[in-house]
Amino acid sequence: MILLLIPVVAIAIVLGITFGWQWVLAPLLAYALLRWSLASLRVLVTDAKHLAGDAVAAAPVASDERTLFWCEECGTEVLLLVRGTSRAPSHCGQRMHERTEISNSG
Ligand SMILES: [Zn+2]
Repeated sequence: MILLLIPVVAIAIVLGITFGWQWVLAPLLAYALLRWSLASLRVLVTDAKHLAGDAVAAAPVASDERTLFWCEECGTEVLLLVRGTSRAPSHCGQRMHERTEISNSG
């Protein structure tokens, strides 16, 4: 890899001195932008797959149990019908606590 890099750097220096540095810096900048764009798109696709997996795993199941989340700070209680992720929702700047109740109607 180093043996390949030395001639490339030498050619870049010769091109830069002969024709101007824009002929060396522009392709390098284009390559860096291309790599950054592809990496950003790859992260978006990876995150979307992760979220879709969570939604399928957290699909509501008919049972006698229901899960409530309550805020320790102010006492607010939340009943989530559909959970988007496995993380607990936030309230008053901190994660809410999970409590499972068993319904006696069934
Ligand atoms: Zn709160």
